[in-house]
Amino acid sequence: MNRRNRCRAKLRLYPDPILTTVCEPVGDDEDVSGIIRDMMHILTNSKTGVGLAAPQAGHTKRVIIANTNNDGYLVMINPKITTFSSDWVFGNEGCLSYPGRLARINRMQWIGVDWQSEGRLNMEGDFIYLGARIIQHEIDHLDGKCEVGE
Ligand SMILES: [Zn+2]
Repeated sequence: MNRRNRCRAKLRLYPDPILTTVCEPVGDDEDVSGIIRDMMHILTNSKTGVGLAAPQAGHTKRVIIANTNNDGYLVMINPKITTFSSDWVFGNEGCLSYPGRLARINRMQWIGVDWQSEGRLNMEGDFIYLGARIIQHEIDHLDGKCEVGE
């Protein structure tokens, strides 16, 4: 790869103000392939990341990537939690943008989510335990929040 084409995506770290910015929905005809490429670059180069939200890659759009079951990266455009359990569960969470920090955070045990795939198909699915935790963490980022940093 030559120098000019090298990916310039850079992980945004606390206290970058983009981490507290509320992200905009992705429009129907909007091309987010560059955003997804930047996010995948950061995520696959991290040793520990199981998910990433667009603002962590410098983009204020509602896109997240979650590695919910350790065998693939799930790209979610405009993710929205539509149903959720009444049971909550505590667990430890870290965040690539807050290196060295770990927080014990209460999350809904399962959630139902609507989103659009990378190919802009309407999707829906249920997620439990770690998958549900990752998605709740990443959607928080889209709303300018990260409890790991609080
Ligand atoms: Zn995070």
